[in-house]
Amino acid sequence: MNSLIPQQRDQEENVVVRTGKKFAIKKMRKLFKKGALAVAKALMRMTIVLTKMLITFLVGIFGPSLLLFIGVIFLVIIIFMSVQLFYSEGVGLDKVGKELRDYIILQSNQSVDLNDPLQRPYKVPPELIIAVMQIEYNYDRTPDKEFIKRIAELLKPTFEYDQYNEYTESYTETCSKDGCTRSPITRTDHYVSKLTHIEAWNTQANYTYKKRLGSFEKTGCSSRDISDPKTGEVIDTITTCKYTRKMTYVLESSVNTEDYSMLDSVLNSLGYGLNDKKMVEALYLLSGGKINYINWLQTTGGLGGIGGFAGFDGTIIPGDNIPAQFMKFYIDAEKKYGVDWYVLAAIHYVETGFSTHKTMVSSVGAIGPMQFLPATWVGWKYNIGGGQVSPSLDITSLAVIKAGGGYGKDGDGDGKADPWNEADAIHTAASYLAANGYSSNPRGAIWQYNHAEWYVNKVLNFASVFRSGATYLANGDVPQATKGAFMRPATGEITSGFGPRWGKMHYGVDIGLGGRSNVPIVAVADGVVKRSYYSSSYGNVVFIQHNINGVTYETVYAHMKNRAVSEGQRVKKGQFLGYMGATGHVTGPHLHFEIHQPSWNTTKSNAVNPVTIMPF
Ligand SMILES: [Zn+2]
Repeated sequence: MNSLIPQQRDQEENVVVRTGKKFAIKKMRKLFKKGALAVAKALMRMTIVLTKMLITFLVGIFGPSLLLFIGVIFLVIIIFMSVQLFYSEGVGLDKVGKELRDYIILQSNQSVDLNDPLQRPYKVPPELIIAVMQIEYNYDRTPDKEFIKRIAELLKPTFEYDQYNEYTESYTETCSKDGCTRSPITRTDHYVSKLTHIEAWNTQANYTYKKRLGSFEKTGCSSRDISDPKTGEVIDTITTCKYTRKMTYVLESSVNTEDYSMLDSVLNSLGYGLNDKKMVEALYLLSGGKINYINWLQTTGGLGGIGGFAGFDGTIIPGDNIPAQFMKFYIDAEKKYGVDWYVLAAIHYVETGFSTHKTMVSSVGAIGPMQFLPATWVGWKYNIGGGQVSPSLDITSLAVIKAGGGYGKDGDGDGKADPWNEADAIHTAASYLAANGYSSNPRGAIWQYNHAEWYVNKVLNFASVFRSGATYLANGDVPQATKGAFMRPATGEITSGFGPRWGKMHYGVDIGLGGRSNVPIVAVADGVVKRSYYSSSYGNVVFIQHNINGVTYETVYAHMKNRAVSEGQRVKKGQFLGYMGATGHVTGPHLHFEIHQPSWNTTKSNAVNPVTIMPF
């Protein structure tokens, strides 16, 4: 913790300079072997506007002095590689390069059904894959076909369809000279798949349909004559006409919302920090693509997609990577200041390795488990230089801290605020983050702790690891575990069953909140979390894959208030997943639960009625 000393910042820049130099020199050598002519040709193809745009970005990322230092070489490399991969039809592209280029285009085309005009606009752009590959090159990793395939698959959009019953109704009317009679109306069901929801790397879209019932129309008549059997004379004509009407669903609205959560989680999984993300955006822009990722990232102010869970009232069992004795302090501080416990744990870890640092005194004189400068702790009016205070000052005295306007807090209630005491230091860190706007902008608040992007990224990465390593045990209305592989996901009444509903298919069951609060949702069986994310239709949703005696199932828990599990995490039957909520496309709070065998797909064709699998 030192908000005054620019040392950390220098360290960060050094890393960038080193990487840049190493990258530049190595690649330059290779490139010049291939011929400077290619570079020149490639450069000529660049328009001035694009170059300017890139310079603006680089300045934004690295600062002007740094740009001067490494800029020119770096720029040439990046531009050259962009041009080589994006624009050239062979100029400077070797056999391997061409093969990769074709493979990228192939994977991109396979990300959607190109014959479907609704799907086509959402395909994974090849330029985006290339932008990601360039960051890999920058880290001296060589992205191969395997990598390209993985990225394309991760960024592949999902299209969800619902089945709408576009039935026809008909009756016949039979008329003779005595009058007409109508048959009863008969109905023929006809389910039609219609796109309802899209999640793509930059968008979430919802389509809604409204029903339109046509009026009965005559669709054909036949008549026959009745003759007198004796005279053969026609005495009557019986006319039978068929009348039909059709129910159709027509598009009512389509709402596209800019949302980069998919891209962000993919880049997080590659270990990219904010600068890498900025580079991806710059490179993608350079290729002429439209992207608003960084702005989205900064305005949503999220914790790198890990999501908050402050105020959880159950028990949290930390993963092996967190010393259990500190949990109480993190949780108490979270309750008091609204700063997520795993962020406090991450700062504790990054600052002093959970208080294992030998001296717990930094080179700039920050002290204790959470590394506060004495003046920050006790008040800057006591500063005698460099954030230090007079050795005769009792920095643990609450009266002294109050008089100085310091941040020091008494976390364990012993009447003292000691920067060397874990409870006190952790509470103080939480209070410091809260005072610096954690609730509205966690990233910005962490930056105030130590003014460096690398620091913020490091803290957030560990926060994410700690959060997903922990197990949440809920209090309250937890469903009773039943015998057998499966149990029900939540207590409460089924408010809507599986099957046709309002002219659509309902592929799961709904369990109502019933006026309760904090109703826990649990995993119905042992399994692995396949996805845990926010969808504009499902809201906070968790997908779990189960293998029960060799049979694979996938369960879906939608509209949750929050999520206590992360992708890849193993869960036990009855393990808490989050609270019932009303997120996503809902009319009221409930759990929407689905089970699929073997797995979920966009048409939900594998959905099974949950009540046939588990006791409700
Ligand atoms: Zn439902």
